[in-house]
Amino acid sequence: ELIFRSEGLTKVYRTGDVSVYALRGVDMRLHAGELTVLLGPSGSGKSTLLNILGGLDRASEGRAWFRDHELTAMTDRELTAYRRDHVGFVFQFYNLVASLTARENVELVTEIARAPMPAAEALAMVGLDHRLDHFPAQLSGGEQQRVAIARAIAKRPEVLLCDEPTGALDSKTGIQVLEALERINRDLGTTTVVITHNAGIQAMAHRVVFFADGRINEVRENATRARPA
Ligand code: ADP
Ligand code: ADP
Repeated sequence: ELIFRSEGLTKVYRTGDVSVYALRGVDMRLHAGELTVLLGPSGSGKSTLLNILGGLDRASEGRAWFRDHELTAMTDRELTAYRRDHVGFVFQFYNLVASLTARENVELVTEIARAPMPAAEALAMVGLDHRLDHFPAQLSGGEQQRVAIARAIAKRPEVLLCDEPTGALDSKTGIQVLEALERINRDLGTTTVVITHNAGIQAMAHRVVFFADGRINEVRENATRARPA
């Protein structure tokens, strides 16, 4: 079952008379329930693609769908509702509220979600059940990122989009963050897309998509990770 699909997806940034092609006709298919990794050099278009899939940015040409819904045909209001109801985001920087505990940071989201997970349960999923009442400044970088991940999953999104979640972490701490994403993918079945340079992810992913210069070069399936049911 496909959850995302794109045809000829193109993104051009125009500044004055300079045009930068971030995406040059990307045809892509992502399978529901899978953990997919986007790899490729800096500037190859990975973030641009992730932002379009998440409804944070618009394509210049081509089409993209989330299930039966055409993202590239949505109004701004529809894209906002799509992001709110279906997508969790994780970025390199955690953006936690310094004056709130881990639990309270997660509760900020669960207050407005329709069928949220209790904050303590979301934090347990990322291995932070012993840090509920800690403030961000009392947590390591990896722990803060795991709070951000708990916040992203607490509204039970169908899709979790992660742009360099390990970018500010050393590789060992980064692995712990990626393991939290793998657990979420396994236990909740959340379709997960991750941009990371941490090589540890390749064994965890169902599929690795290689980008170069605004195009998909290669898609490699990981035979050692069973497909989701
Ligand atoms: P990465 O995705 O590799 O972490 P960034 O997203 O920070 O890197 O930026 C990738 C490239 O996009 C950089 O070369 C940066 O200069 C360029 N870039 C990002 N945002 C803008 C912008 N608003 N205007 C112009 N160039 C930008
Ligand atoms: P990656 O995530 O693979 O590093 P990006 O999607 O961030 O790549 O960037 C792809 C290309 O688009 C790069 O050449 C980058 O400089 C350019 N780019 C990204 N964002 C902007 C922006 N806001 N304005 C102008 N150019 C941008």
